Amino acid sequence: MAKGDFHLHSTASDGVRSPRWVVDRAARNGVRVLALTDHDTTAGLSEAGRAAKRRGLRLVPGIELSTDLGRADVHLLGFGFNILDRKLQEYLAWMREGRLGRVEKMVAILRDMGAPIAIERVFAIAGDATVGRPHVARALIEAGHVESVQAAFDRFLHNGGPADVPRPKLTPEDAIAEVHRAGGVVCIAHPGFIGEEWEAAVRQLAGWGADGIETYYKHYPPELVARIADLGRELGLALSGGSDFHGLGNPDDREIGNIPFADAAVDALLEFIERNAYDAGERNP
Ligand code: AMP
Ligand code: ZN
Ligand code: FE
Ligand code: FE
Repeated sequence: MAKGDFHLHSTASDGVRSPRWVVDRAARNGVRVLALTDHDTTAGLSEAGRAAKRRGLRLVPGIELSTDLGRADVHLLGFGFNILDRKLQEYLAWMREGRLGRVEKMVAILRDMGAPIAIERVFAIAGDATVGRPHVARALIEAGHVESVQAAFDRFLHNGGPADVPRPKLTPEDAIAEVHRAGGVVCIAHPGFIGEEWEAAVRQLAGWGADGIETYYKHYPPELVARIADLGRELGLALSGGSDFHGLGNPDDREIGNIPFADAAVDALLEFIERNAYDAGERNP
């Protein structure tokens, strides 16, 4: 029986803590099994793997991919794929590249809206990471235009917001197929964020081969967790859980591992990944 958290971000993408910090904090919080799921990159996994080994935790290789389903923003979590897969890494590099041009457009829009920021500051804040909206939000704070990351999203950056610029993405079908091809399994992330039509979207994604659904998500109330679990069971999906920790200080943030993800459900998910995925991270104890 193990405590788990299968949705975590680090400085490899738009989180504010290093992969090592994330693993160390997870260990301190009693987590035994975890997946680092940075956006469009596996760059944090070596450091996280070393830290996990040192702490005796099980680290499952992970990734988060954003996709568009109609007008809905669907995020997919890949687990247990071969991180050395060349074609997958080429897709990830293409998505990261697309984020660079997107930042230029966002900065231009923000300038026109009277909230100028220097693009160099966005890239400096991001460092080597997959650059994303949270880095733009932090540049907006630095320039004095907003007080918090949440305020930056509320005013400018939320989905469909004035400075939310599209970027090249895989379709959900292709993202699922690609993770499968690289040996992994796919869970539908935070279904409650997909929008009003989330149940129809989940059915569609399951039809395309999604393997699981993120059910035990940070602040989801028990009624929503129960609805997601029921739909997941009906569709034969594995049930995953995670805090989506970024460390950005948003009001709905949760501590790593502080999610309603029962130990038995963690064990069931890990067993599912072990049975179906190329690399369930068994090299760690
Ligand atoms: P990106 O991948 O650059 O589109 O940024 C996506 C990230 O932005 C998510 O992983 C969240 O961390 C953050 N995000 C998206 N929407 C919101 C929102 N409405 N409020 C706060 N953070 C958000
Ligand atoms: Zn993020
Ligand atoms: Fe997400
Ligand atoms: Fe996430």
